[in-house]
Amino acid sequence: MDQIKIGKFIAECRKNKNLTQAQLSEKLNVTDRAVSKWETGNAMPDSNIMLKLCSILGIDVNELLCGEMIDMEKKDEQLNDLIFQMATNEERYHKRLKHSSYMIIAISLIALISIITVISLLIPECGFQYFLIVVSVILFIIPCLIALKFKVETGYYECKNCQNMFVPNYKGIAVLMQTPTKKLLKCTKCGKWTWCKKLSKK
Ligand SMILES: [Zn+2]
Repeated sequence: MDQIKIGKFIAECRKNKNLTQAQLSEKLNVTDRAVSKWETGNAMPDSNIMLKLCSILGIDVNELLCGEMIDMEKKDEQLNDLIFQMATNEERYHKRLKHSSYMIIAISLIALISIITVISLLIPECGFQYFLIVVSVILFIIPCLIALKFKVETGYYECKNCQNMFVPNYKGIAVLMQTPTKKLLKCTKCGKWTWCKKLSKK
């Protein structure tokens, strides 16, 4: 939020309505110092008077928060920007998930190799040594498998109910009910459990 832009916008709208700062503050039951603070970008109007301010200025809250008039065409554009921004964020989350999977696999493998080396150096070859090696392999294979599962299953899914596209969270990935193309997931938008179609794998 750009407070300076919002402030200038408030001042502009006030002047369009032929109001002085004092007149506007009187209508809102605030001091004219408060109005001047908003207009210089030093403070934001409290949320409880925002609606009243908007109705006096003849704008809607979105316009106030954007600091400009929004025409319908531009509204679509801004919505697209917002959706694009959200998609980029998901993409980033996606990449982080993938990177952390690689990290887990690498760390587990290094740990496994070092442990096996230590076991074979310290303990003479016998049944107990084999037992320890098997246990450590199992212990370190588990995180690898989990990480692999994360890596394979990150992707976009489409909700059957509302067609919302979303990336499942860790909890969603852990759900086991799935086919190669579909997965039982809780939609992030409508909150319903449906068999969601897998859309992409990146
Ligand atoms: Zn949904």
